[in-house]
Amino acid sequence: MGYQLKVVLKSPVCIAMKKGVGNMIETIDYIPGNTIRGALAMHYLEEHGTWDQEKRIYVLPEDNDEFNTIFNSDTMCFHNAYIDGKKVVPLTASSCKYQSGFEEANNIEDFHGVRDTLVELVKYELTGGFDKDDKDKFDRCGRCPAPMDRFRGYYGKKSPTASMYETGAVERRFIARSALNDTFEAAAAGKLYTIEVIDERQTFIAELNKALFDKLKPLFDEKIIRIGRAKSRGFGEVLIRVEKTIEDNEHSLSHFFESFNGKMYKFIGDKSFFSVTLLSDVILLDDILRFKSTITINNLVNTVQDITPEGMAVLNKFKLLRGILSTRIVSEWDHALKLPREDSLSIAKGSVFVFMSEGLSDSEKELLVTVLGKIENTGIGEQRNKGYGRIRFCDEFHWEDEVK
Ligand SMILES: [Zn+2]
Repeated sequence: MGYQLKVVLKSPVCIAMKKGVGNMIETIDYIPGNTIRGALAMHYLEEHGTWDQEKRIYVLPEDNDEFNTIFNSDTMCFHNAYIDGKKVVPLTASSCKYQSGFEEANNIEDFHGVRDTLVELVKYELTGGFDKDDKDKFDRCGRCPAPMDRFRGYYGKKSPTASMYETGAVERRFIARSALNDTFEAAAAGKLYTIEVIDERQTFIAELNKALFDKLKPLFDEKIIRIGRAKSRGFGEVLIRVEKTIEDNEHSLSHFFESFNGKMYKFIGDKSFFSVTLLSDVILLDDILRFKSTITINNLVNTVQDITPEGMAVLNKFKLLRGILSTRIVSEWDHALKLPREDSLSIAKGSVFVFMSEGLSDSEKELLVTVLGKIENTGIGEQRNKGYGRIRFCDEFHWEDEVK
């Protein structure tokens, strides 16, 4: 059994992540955990609080501790909601430059399949180069003579039992509006702006843990709330559903670890590997609070409390071998202070890191899988309750079928 929060768009939604250029506001193509958390918190305050005209804030009754339990807790994590609950395509994915996309059973002409390059990249790193056959395989489509190109976006299984993948497409459009004068709520003379929106009637899904599900279900299930930019202009109306799913969010990490290593073993024996794939952006700080753009073993363990010394010893055998990553500047708006927050740097979702050690014994492997499981459940880095820091070890995308 799993738990999820559905965001069903009843009107166009604009989630702006950076300051607009000129009079153009762009939206991102997912709904960040932070946005969901903020919108639910505001809805809660409107329903349970009273408006203090002087301080211009909502005030809750003194005996209310529910608000802080849900919205100011490190363990209540609001994850990002992605289109139809799909996952972010890892940065290691590539596809045919001209007939790009996941294979379809009845349409081999239009979609030449998606390949993951992680194992090949590691092989290159460790063996110092490709032979010609390998290089052709890496650079060329194979179904046609076209070169391979990066493949981005969202993906998921067509159904829980399906073996084939499909792309999750987010429909967006631009809308031109005349700006409103905020005081008079009337059109401001001579001011036009263009706003990019996510189209209505699409559904975004975020995973929930049981504790948060239990809190949110009685408060927000089937509620209409408002999210994102330009709420007063008729944008941002969404229906919230808090649901159980038949499918389990759990997966067998031990199977994933063995499968990933099985694929690596074909060309390099007597080493052990694990990969870290970012399901959301990750914010990491070094010892003197500077933002980091790479992951170390220390970053993996410092959010988890109960790692045994033996588990720690196994983990410390690993070193970062390779990172395939991009970074992003996070600019946020502090609604309470009505000021921009200081920018932070995140490692972007879809980034992939590979760690390697000398070969492990069976008991060491068992220990490692236990430790990795704990880290995966907790997440890594800062602001995990706002949707940051979600990772997955040895994701099947890197070791399943060569062409997907
Ligand atoms: Zn092709």
